[in-house]
Amino acid sequence: AELYGIRNWGNGYFDVADDGGLVVSPFPGNNAPTVNLLDVVNGIKDRGMNMPVLLRVSNILDSQIKLLHSSFRRAIKQTGYQGVYKGVFPIKVNQQQQVIEEITRFGREFHHGLEAGSKAELIAALGTLHDREACLVCNGYKDEEFIDLALYACKLGMQCIMVVEMLSELPAIIERSRVLDIKPLIGIRMKLSTRATGQWAESGGDRSVFGLNTSELIETVDLLRKEGMLDCLKLLHYHIGSQIPNIRDIRAGVLEASRVYAGLVQEGAAMGYLDLGGGLAVDYDGSHTNYHQSRNYTLDEYCVDVIDTVAETLNGYKIEHPTIITESGRATIAYYSVLLFNILDATRFEPPQVPEAVPDGVSEMTKDLLQTLKNINQKNLQECFHDAIYYRDELRILFKNGRISLRERGLAENAFWHIMVMINKGVKKLKYVPDEFEALDSALADIYYANFSVFQSLPDAWAIKQLFPIMPIHRLNERPTRNAIISDITCDCDGKIEQFVDLHDVRKTLPLHELRENEEYYLAAFLVGAYQETLGDLHNLLGDTNVVSITISQESGRFEIVKELEGDSVADVLSYVEYNPQALRDSFKRNAERAVREKLITPAERKVIMTAFEDGIRGYTYFER
Ligand code: PLP
Repeated sequence: AELYGIRNWGNGYFDVADDGGLVVSPFPGNNAPTVNLLDVVNGIKDRGMNMPVLLRVSNILDSQIKLLHSSFRRAIKQTGYQGVYKGVFPIKVNQQQQVIEEITRFGREFHHGLEAGSKAELIAALGTLHDREACLVCNGYKDEEFIDLALYACKLGMQCIMVVEMLSELPAIIERSRVLDIKPLIGIRMKLSTRATGQWAESGGDRSVFGLNTSELIETVDLLRKEGMLDCLKLLHYHIGSQIPNIRDIRAGVLEASRVYAGLVQEGAAMGYLDLGGGLAVDYDGSHTNYHQSRNYTLDEYCVDVIDTVAETLNGYKIEHPTIITESGRATIAYYSVLLFNILDATRFEPPQVPEAVPDGVSEMTKDLLQTLKNINQKNLQECFHDAIYYRDELRILFKNGRISLRERGLAENAFWHIMVMINKGVKKLKYVPDEFEALDSALADIYYANFSVFQSLPDAWAIKQLFPIMPIHRLNERPTRNAIISDITCDCDGKIEQFVDLHDVRKTLPLHELRENEEYYLAAFLVGAYQETLGDLHNLLGDTNVVSITISQESGRFEIVKELEGDSVADVLSYVEYNPQALRDSFKRNAERAVREKLITPAERKVIMTAFEDGIRGYTYFER
């Protein structure tokens, strides 16, 4: 458990059992039931489904929604805040139907609503949300169709709030509400001058492309006043970016927004809601720091700081405390999904032995390289490192110029890698590691080939170097003896994972177990519930993975598979890129027929080949054993 830091990043949901199995438990408390992930994998396989599988643990989503609301309720009680908290889930963070349906179901007791940023998301929300006390916050650019739908939702009694992102949207909202004779609920999105640090900082601050600046806020108020509609202006919204690691930035944002809120009330707007957007971070590496893959605060601290800042600021103006809305996506959903996958093969980094005696006839340069190998000691690591690189590069030039043989080059490369292995062993004993040695670990690592696509299942790991905790789900009572990087099955050199969570730094290799003959080795990537599913793409035509949902019974501690969704077949992914699978089959059949005519194959062989083609077209896009 310590090696992989599971108790640091697992939020209490994941742990290692005494038998070495990775267990999941969505329930807080010491004696809560746990489910072994290997049992889940076996249950999935018994149903005929192959890896990779995206596993959703429904109870975790339920727990996260409960945690969010209970933390806010505690903070409200503790600070004597006069208003209430209402959450909304931003659909963009995970749009899958099952997810949105479960959020509205689990969130019902807290009136947890939805945030929609486009027409399609609004339509999904309108068809899923049945709680009239929950908010439906509409961000994003709105055309007439969008506005009409939001107005009709108000007519049906829903709390559907249109947030003005650009000044030009306002006249359209006013006009359509007149035409349809429906009173709108209007919000405005402000640009904060507060800027946060972190990966997504650009989406906030006054450089943000979204929202109104101060003079536009005043113009909005003036226009609404002129139209006699200031009573429709209910909400102030801002979003300073996702994954805000530092609580100071969160507090600074709330403070600025509270002042603007007070200003709007003083201008005569009805108000009543303050929407702080997203930003509540996930501690992906478990370090509890303000490193951008972590956060230096707890959920309770976040809630208290937010509530306290709003209350204190508005008390100064004697303004009624508003309903606080947050649009937490990442923190609500990240823990819910786990990507399960198997390892197909491994290449070990083990250069063949170098002969003791220098072979006859080799060049001076090769002799120097072999001598370097003999000379290495703890005090000359850097010198030997530089020498080895110099000799290796010179020998490459000699080879290109035809001055040394292929065999000699092979010998030199072996010697070079032996030197690197020895240097790396020495580096491990150093107190301070010079920068130039940093890449050694991954250069000397084994490669474990994993049955998934980084581009499809962990796109942020590729696109923005997002860290996701990855570890084996079994054999955890055995000390791993290999250090590896992970390669996926796309044939893209970017299809690999070379950074792993670590409490103090980013780790370049992952400790893994030796593969055993005729035994699967399963790993899992955790905290993948936010943003990954729809951002994933079809690189190399590897499609959506199978998805399995489980719920765990708190009474019996047993899990039940409640939903299975088959991933894309080869025919599916081909049709996404405009092939017609039937036409492909017919066309391939013509190739087979010609081969029969030309007596390259027999008619019986043609049948076998066509069956293989048809099975392939119906099959899963991932490696099947
Ligand atoms: N609200 C808005 C307007 C957003 O743009 C985003 C995402 O960046 C979110 C909410 C969700 O943020 P998070 O996932 O950090 O909670």
